[in-house]
Amino acid sequence: MMAFHPPEAYGELNEGVSRVLFSADEIAIKVGELGQQISADYDGRFPLLVGVLNGVVPFMADLLRAITIPVEVDYLAIASYSAETRERGLVRLEKDLDETIKNRHILFVEDMVDTGLTLNYLLRNLRAREPASIEVCALFSKPRRRLIELPIKYKGFDLPDRFVVGYGLDYRGKYRNLPFVGLLKPEIFQP
Ligand code: 5GP
Repeated sequence: MMAFHPPEAYGELNEGVSRVLFSADEIAIKVGELGQQISADYDGRFPLLVGVLNGVVPFMADLLRAITIPVEVDYLAIASYSAETRERGLVRLEKDLDETIKNRHILFVEDMVDTGLTLNYLLRNLRAREPASIEVCALFSKPRRRLIELPIKYKGFDLPDRFVVGYGLDYRGKYRNLPFVGLLKPEIFQP
């Protein structure tokens, strides 16, 4: 396992965090378990893992290496949006997949499912391309915030309704490089 620096080494970034919710070790153990389940379930099906840039990058990198069967990976990018825009189903693709997904087994990999609006839009978009199957793997979920119920087959951790940063999750572009996940201090967070 890659040895990360202790939280104190992240100076200003660590000082923005009021409480660590999941340490780098706890995340690594969970990602290992998810990788094991996915490897067993998808054996012989050569799934395509699909992620949304940029937040999913650390999770995808670790999950890929926790999977022991052959897989492929591809990425989408979406434009930043407001909650209102999302509710109207307007998520703009900035970058589409490189792969054709018709008849493929798709595992959609998400760092965070909050209201579920983004994921709902993206799943509808991908289903229209007639994949053989689509399932969702999400490291974090905020069930109490959900506006649309979505089946998450592989889930890491449930979170309270609080804003978190680290392990790919940013606040205004920062904090993605923290190896742990924690609550952002309220004096820094301005919704
Ligand atoms: P949804 O459409 O499910 O509400 O939006 C999910 C997206 O909102 C995530 O991909 C993430 O970009 C952002 N998000 C939701 N909750 C958090 C959070 O606690 N921290 C961070 N950094 N982003 C969040």
